[in-house]
Amino acid sequence: MKQTYFTAGPAELYPTVYQHLQTAMDEQIGSISHRSARFRSLYQFCVEQLRELLTIPESHGIFFTGSASEVWERIMLNCVEHESFHLINGSFSKKFCEYATGVHKYTHKQEKPFGEGFDYGEIVVPDYAELIAVTHNETSSGVQMRPVDIHKLKRSNAKKLIAVDIVSSAPFPDLDFSLIDTAFFSVQKAFGLPAGLGVWIANEKCLEKAELLKHGDQHIGAHNNLPTLWKNFKTYETPATPNVLLIYLLGKIAQDFNRIGVETIRRETEEKAKMLYKFIESHPQFSPFVKEDRHRSRTVVVASTQKPSSEIISLAKDAGMVVGSGYGQFKDSQIRIANFPATDAGQVGRLIDVLAKA
Ligand SMILES: *Cc1c(COP(=O)(O)O)cnc(C)c1O
Repeated sequence: MKQTYFTAGPAELYPTVYQHLQTAMDEQIGSISHRSARFRSLYQFCVEQLRELLTIPESHGIFFTGSASEVWERIMLNCVEHESFHLINGSFSKKFCEYATGVHKYTHKQEKPFGEGFDYGEIVVPDYAELIAVTHNETSSGVQMRPVDIHKLKRSNAKKLIAVDIVSSAPFPDLDFSLIDTAFFSVQKAFGLPAGLGVWIANEKCLEKAELLKHGDQHIGAHNNLPTLWKNFKTYETPATPNVLLIYLLGKIAQDFNRIGVETIRRETEEKAKMLYKFIESHPQFSPFVKEDRHRSRTVVVASTQKPSSEIISLAKDAGMVVGSGYGQFKDSQIRIANFPATDAGQVGRLIDVLAKA
């Protein structure tokens, strides 16, 4: 049976992917040189669509990597000389921090129990931290940090760089990129594409820092370091052979999103999230794992289950819908439901109807 994927990534493909993939094949995108004019125009198109979608100013370059977790390492190598500061409230923010120690940075952390989120007022940023690492949407626990809090954090720490993981939420969060030095995502989450491409957005301050470190004999990495990416980006090229097919598809999906309008996508995301939370709050078999509404993710809804989650998951599966299990130790006691643009209110409604039978 054909399934609808409500998993947090890889996720349900955006409905137009099939058509774009067909066109890409017809146009032989898989064979074009990444040093050709065709590729340069395709990279440029993707950048223009992403700039419009996320309101990314010209001060920021847009680069391609293998995946989002690669960007964790690139940011630490290129934008931090000695010390970084991490807001940790789940497995992904924790891994971001582990990547920093992995490349020998000294890490400061502020941690929250699983299922709780950060507000601006309680964050204490250490003086010597050069960069603040924030995860907008913790895919493991279903916790979000509101853009208004992220913006305040940068405003009150103007001299530090801020890096925001928007992997499982973009294009949902309305971030003001004049305040965000660097952000990144993967295409297999809310953009509804197959996995295999990371997108790294970084401003000139990040580049300056990387140049400074490089000339100060610091190791900024040989592969996909920021000065090399930026130099190539100026002519819409890449240092190594990139995933041309996914860059093509991402440009097309971003264009589809722009045609709908990002405000509409954000409003629909809010509405579908409301449907899901209302349901799990009212049904005796479910309860929302994240207690504070302002911390509840709008793109990955986590519900605690009375029955073992495997029973709920197979109930949904029999009806043609795939929902995720809980993360790590919560595997058997929670389900995770992705609320991405690829699934519309009708599909979310049908999922709710099936879960209601639990
Ligand atoms: C999935 C995810 C990542 C890692 O993305 P990859 O594409 O697997 O590298 C990082 N951060 C968050 C919040 C994620 O959900």
